[in-house]
Amino acid sequence: MADTAEAQTQTKAKAELDRARAGDTRALARLISLVEDESPRVRSVIKELLPSTGGARIIGLTGSPGVGKSTVTGALVGAFRAAGVRVAVLAVDPSSPFTGGALLGDRVRMQEHATDDQVYIRSMASRGHLGGLAASTPQAIRVLDAAGFELIIIETVGVGQAEVAIASLADSVVVLLAPGMGDAIQAAKAGILEVADVFVVNKADKPDSQQVVRDLRNMIALAEQVEGGWKPPIISAVAVRGEGIDELLGRLDEHWSWLGSSGELARRRHARAREEITALAFAALRGRMAAGHVEELASQVADGTLDPFQAADELLRPPAD
Ligand code: GDP
Repeated sequence: MADTAEAQTQTKAKAELDRARAGDTRALARLISLVEDESPRVRSVIKELLPSTGGARIIGLTGSPGVGKSTVTGALVGAFRAAGVRVAVLAVDPSSPFTGGALLGDRVRMQEHATDDQVYIRSMASRGHLGGLAASTPQAIRVLDAAGFELIIIETVGVGQAEVAIASLADSVVVLLAPGMGDAIQAAKAGILEVADVFVVNKADKPDSQQVVRDLRNMIALAEQVEGGWKPPIISAVAVRGEGIDELLGRLDEHWSWLGSSGELARRRHARAREEITALAFAALRGRMAAGHVEELASQVADGTLDPFQAADELLRPPAD
């Protein structure tokens, strides 16, 4: 029975994927909603998509609210489109309970791309699930990858650990700063600086922007340099006027080449896969514990009728079905 249901889901997913690859954005949206809802069918869908994945380049973009993420993302999309690249943007907002393209994706600054069928923009929000975005974002990336997008930009608000974790799903991480918008020291405290491959100091038209660049330079100088390692460049930009975007593109291309030649791309993707499967395993274990089995075992251990090692083995045993 279960096998038939799985086969049906896979067949349906394949049909949806074929439509999505051919440019049907509704089919694509349905596939993403499925993984976003953490539907039980996700498993079969991902299995079906897997052979078509691995081709996309993933760029993460993070920074405090108001630094200019959407503006930079919009400009980047334009630049990549000019180069003929098919681009998807996943705007991830861990602090917002809303989803489904109602948020960032519809924002004015992105609208110039709304009629371009080679650009797909989608928002994802947490819906209050614990670890929901951390679990569903990698799957949404897989869907976009399988749907044939060559470049996926993940835009996220950089305010805490969860956001840093999401940013680190990317092959290259761009950290945006701006004068007066949460300075470099705050960013350092949130752990954002360590994940940066490229820094953009946006709003360079504002007077304090050179100070942000100097602070950043000092902080980078303090960081340990590995021989042959990547030293994150700092780009000054005025995103509203498109200034600095060409340089950003150039630096991202250099980083992409370095990822390949240094073996870092393979290392990053391996590390990401390790994180992902560990998170899935822990989530499964938490689910099993929440299902009540742990209470029964705890009673037996407390009564002295079961030893704690056996109880732990029992907890780790897959449920019989
Ligand atoms: P996000 O919240 O990080 O996505 O930031 P937005 O892209 O929405 O930008 C926030 C505000 O800053 C908007 O009003 C933008 O027009 C403005 N902004 C973006 N880039 C620049 C810039 O280079 N200079 C100035 N002065 N304003 C900018």
